[in-house]
Amino acid sequence: MDSGASVFRRTPLLCLPTPFHRLDRVSADYGADVWIKRDDLTGFAGGGNKGRKLEYIATRIQAAQITTVVCEGSTQSNFIRQLGATCRVLGVRCVAVVMDYPYEFSLPPGPLVPASGGNLILGEILGIDFRRGPNGTWDELRARAEATATEEANRGERVWHIPVGGSVPEGAAGFLAAAHELVAQSPEPIAEIWFASASGSTHVGLQTALLDTSIRVQGVATDPEPGIAEEFAELSERLHRADSSLPVLSASEFRLTFDFVGPGYGVPSEAGAAATEYLARREGIFLDPIYTAKAFAALRDRLSSRPAEGRPAEGRIVFWHTGGFPSLFGH
Ligand SMILES: *Cc1c(COP(=O)(O)O)cnc(C)c1O
Repeated sequence: MDSGASVFRRTPLLCLPTPFHRLDRVSADYGADVWIKRDDLTGFAGGGNKGRKLEYIATRIQAAQITTVVCEGSTQSNFIRQLGATCRVLGVRCVAVVMDYPYEFSLPPGPLVPASGGNLILGEILGIDFRRGPNGTWDELRARAEATATEEANRGERVWHIPVGGSVPEGAAGFLAAAHELVAQSPEPIAEIWFASASGSTHVGLQTALLDTSIRVQGVATDPEPGIAEEFAELSERLHRADSSLPVLSASEFRLTFDFVGPGYGVPSEAGAAATEYLARREGIFLDPIYTAKAFAALRDRLSSRPAEGRPAEGRIVFWHTGGFPSLFGH
């Protein structure tokens, strides 16, 4: 792990480092040494992993003298909430093209209740310019955002259309730094890190930074898209192009389990609901239904069964809490 100088510059928004502490009751329940990295407690805009990405995205917004940021996502997007706050802090406009349940082409969701509350309320408080449309595929959502970005540019705005979840090299840079932050907080060796993975910059940043350590970086997919690791590899390639000192990772280098996605992206799962109750009642820590509940359900499964590869963990098992608390009130 090389913690040398980075080409990426941080604009401080968060209260770092986020806390890192042991889960005593979970550890006792499962006979393991289980710890938690509290990125739900970043101290910025309701917390969550997107803040780490936005510190580096903010630097580029300023350097490129952007006047309007266009983004897309689900109505309950945690990224859009934190991006909206970042834009306010920087004094730029934030236009969010959203749908309640974007889905993969091959996997349309069943009938679902419209999104309300949660992040939508916080986004309205922040004054995000929401452009809410009917449900459709992720490709349709991207096309709508693309069209909105073009309109804004035609009106004379300097536009940056930021992709879903802030998964640009700057976003991954936030998690390169986060990996170094965690390692510095843990004098005892870490065996495994478990976290919810979706748009990929969390995973790419952590895996890249920890590549030549013995730490197992284990993502839990929250989106059923099977080709997601290919997208992570593309992001890794772009990260390398921005900073050639970083290695390029191939799709097979990302450990990702799809066993806990549940009914679909953005749709709560039963195992996730059970994990949420468990962690709240044992440790007083809340999870969110879309990401962290599913990731913690995967970790519980791993703790109760032993790893598939048969290698017992030596050292700490870390759950990386990526936030999302407000969407508990959106379901
Ligand atoms: C966005 C998000 C994730 C996934 O992070 P990616 O970098 O998009 O893979 C996980 N948990 C929460 C709460 C999120 O909002």
